[in-house]
Amino acid sequence: MSLMSPRPNSLESIMAQDIAQNGPMDMGRFMGLALGHCEYGYYMSGDPFGRGGDFTTAPEISQMFGEILGAWFADIWMQMGSPQSFVFLECGPGRGTLMSDMMRATKSVPGFHAACEIHFLEMSPVLRDKQAQALKSYTPHWHETLGDVPRDKPLLVVGNEFFDALPVRQLEKVNKRWAERAVFYDEDKGFHLGLVPALPELIRFIPEVLRDAKEGSIFELSPVSRSFMRNLCDILKACGGAGLFIDYGPARSGLGDSVQAVRVHRYSDILKDIGKSDLTAHVDFESLLSEAMDAGADVWGIVEQGAFLKALGIEHRAAHLGITADANVLKSLKESLRRLVSCDQMGALFKVIGVSCGSTLRPAGF
Ligand code: SAH
Repeated sequence: MSLMSPRPNSLESIMAQDIAQNGPMDMGRFMGLALGHCEYGYYMSGDPFGRGGDFTTAPEISQMFGEILGAWFADIWMQMGSPQSFVFLECGPGRGTLMSDMMRATKSVPGFHAACEIHFLEMSPVLRDKQAQALKSYTPHWHETLGDVPRDKPLLVVGNEFFDALPVRQLEKVNKRWAERAVFYDEDKGFHLGLVPALPELIRFIPEVLRDAKEGSIFELSPVSRSFMRNLCDILKACGGAGLFIDYGPARSGLGDSVQAVRVHRYSDILKDIGKSDLTAHVDFESLLSEAMDAGADVWGIVEQGAFLKALGIEHRAAHLGITADANVLKSLKESLRRLVSCDQMGALFKVIGVSCGSTLRPAGF
């Protein structure tokens, strides 16, 4: 066995075998397996959150994030005429912190809790357990796919850092043509990146203005994210409702390789320790909104997270929480507010988009 041979029984040996049988693996399939393989995928074992974990997200930074989003949904629900029953769906709920903060914040909204049925879209069994603990007083329902979510009532849906976990494919301009980046494997070099011919149906996703990109440019596209948004809007069209998504990425579709691996709060090589580090890519919000518009949904955004949270009053919420806080708590309140809204922190890189169908809404923050 050469030094580069994968360890037996690991995701790496499964992938090496797959590549030997089926040829180079496109980046989308690689990400999908690295994150979601039923046994060895990153999200299938362990809890990736928090200080001891691999990354921290907005709801884990401060309760204020969920409180503000809870208020947004309560307002939308009232604008929809306060339907007596609705599905409150969270996509990729992590530890359940966001939903739990949203529910606490909406306790005093008359009728909201009585009408609300909590549903989660989650693939990780470990995180499902955490979500069950965090939401035990609300008896949530879990689903593997959007297709399993009930369609007999209006739907309100939220996703924070959900789309960035969905696989992207990468096209690269080489010799004046677009080729697709793929993962190769051989005994000598181990896993490495290379190019295969790009399918015309992928190339057609490249926006007109980017087609003439210079040599070596990379364009990322996420067919999985696009069809998720399309399916979601079809459900919203059938049942009525709205969705709010917060994630990171540029305001305009652009060029560049954004696929990154993070392990214990540090960047690592995407082809090393496959399945042990988190893999994400920047979200192409423009492509999601155009998919939603094509499906006939009303769309809002793209706005920056900092501007959105401030428009919804996060600074007032922080000041209010500060009234009864001691010096230490006050310091951490200020610090977490800064992390959420400052342009040099999450405030500008993270963006917010909204979609809705069936009611004329004026959502706050856009
Ligand atoms: N929203 C949470 C967690 C973000 S991490 C927070 O802000 O803290 C991404 C979440 O999406 C995890 O819960 C992960 O298990 C879930 N996830 C990733 N890909 C998924 C998929 N294809 N289907 C369902 N859940 C997925």
